[in-house]
Amino acid sequence: MNKIITILLILLFNGTAMLQNYEFEQSLYYNYEFFKEKSLQNRFFKHSDIVKLISNLKKNNLFDVNVAGKSFEGREIFLLSIGNGNKKIFLWSQMHGDEPTATMALFDIFNFFSDTSNYQDIKKFILSNAKIYFMPMVNPDGAELFKRRNALSIDLNRDANRLQTPEAKILMNVFDSLKADFGFNLHDQNHRYAAGNSFKTAAISFLAPPINYEKQVDSVRLNAIKLIGSLYKMLNKFIPGHIAKYSDDYEPRAFGDTFQRKGTSTILVESGGWQDDQEKQFIRKLNFILLLSAIKQIAENSFKNIPETIYDSIPFNEEKIFDVVFRNLLYEKNGSKIKIDIGINFEEVLDDDKNVVYKKATIEDIGDLSVFYGYTDVDFTGYEISDIKTYTDESITIDELKKLNLTEFYKKGFVNFLIKKSIDKDWVDLPVNLLSNEKKEIRTKISIGARPNFVIKKNGKIDFVVVNGFLQRVSNNSDYKGNGLIYK
Ligand SMILES: [Zn+2]
Repeated sequence: MNKIITILLILLFNGTAMLQNYEFEQSLYYNYEFFKEKSLQNRFFKHSDIVKLISNLKKNNLFDVNVAGKSFEGREIFLLSIGNGNKKIFLWSQMHGDEPTATMALFDIFNFFSDTSNYQDIKKFILSNAKIYFMPMVNPDGAELFKRRNALSIDLNRDANRLQTPEAKILMNVFDSLKADFGFNLHDQNHRYAAGNSFKTAAISFLAPPINYEKQVDSVRLNAIKLIGSLYKMLNKFIPGHIAKYSDDYEPRAFGDTFQRKGTSTILVESGGWQDDQEKQFIRKLNFILLLSAIKQIAENSFKNIPETIYDSIPFNEEKIFDVVFRNLLYEKNGSKIKIDIGINFEEVLDDDKNVVYKKATIEDIGDLSVFYGYTDVDFTGYEISDIKTYTDESITIDELKKLNLTEFYKKGFVNFLIKKSIDKDWVDLPVNLLSNEKKEIRTKISIGARPNFVIKKNGKIDFVVVNGFLQRVSNNSDYKGNGLIYK
């Protein structure tokens, strides 16, 4: 078949879907910074930060701002609305306290609608065809501690039927009062998911939650499936291959599944991982674009033309990614030498102010990891693992340590230091481990669950050290980064 006929056939099959250029979305992509809510800069903002922003929004009278209810610890849960069209759209975010990416995007969207000089025609069209309701930060008590569950340690997304938590009750009451056409259930997912059997991170994953164990597609779910198809195509322009589908197992206790069952076309959006975007600011921008795109397509009814086969073609999330993979390292034990890959993940730990995090690394896998990928992924063919050492000639203070030339110590394999007095902290903002007890030892241990601390040699020379999972190239020009742990 010649090329022109092929293209014509695709056009016939896909209808107007093929004709969508997503110009609005491309323009949002380039103009995003103008709308970005600059006071939200990282993942650790709290309820008090959004209270300030919402009281500003109250003043401009564009949004209808209400308190829908209060969390278990008495924090207000807000419901904002804008528009006067027939199509009702309901978006809620952060029912898991440590999943804040979409909340930031909702405030960017509030700025988009508050602005009075750009996209005026599109906004007018949207607001005359749709009424949009927003509930940002459904779980403010969890957000306060940057944890998933609410103050009663209950996962709100397993409380959609029993409704024992005030937050779940509020969400359900608002949902029942709105009977919206479309619902957007906004979450963050593990940053280590890949989009299908690939080495590409699942930056955004979608799901049209099922309505029963049979995963039946009724007309309500079909609309969600069609809209996701269009959003998938659109996002593929910006992040090709980085979009996936979340597990579609039916969960009767979850809100998405329940809302879909109750007649609102519901879309789950999961914000995943992106290289060098720990604070998820790029993923936030993608949320801004995809949510505005969805709102516009609902207002236009244009998603109706999207074939459902696109949704079916979206790859599922796969656990394919480690934070770190070191490959082809030689490792000697009891006289025999083998070649191994090492997969390492970092755990983020909150500091006392629930604000900053340090990292604790763990060896998660050892062996042939050729089917996995790492955010940091290094081939060490020709190198071998060797033991670390603890510098015990003299004990030292942290201030003294900061002035040391670490290169001289790394070259000899010293990555652990004995400190003068014990410190009431678990970590140090330097790529070394500290020991406050002379009798304790920190040794290289290559086993599942161990902390990755070792040196990497070639021809007897130490070229790299790994301290608490952070790789350091040993050289006078290196800028050593990462944090170590304090062993007591
Ligand atoms: Zn979640």
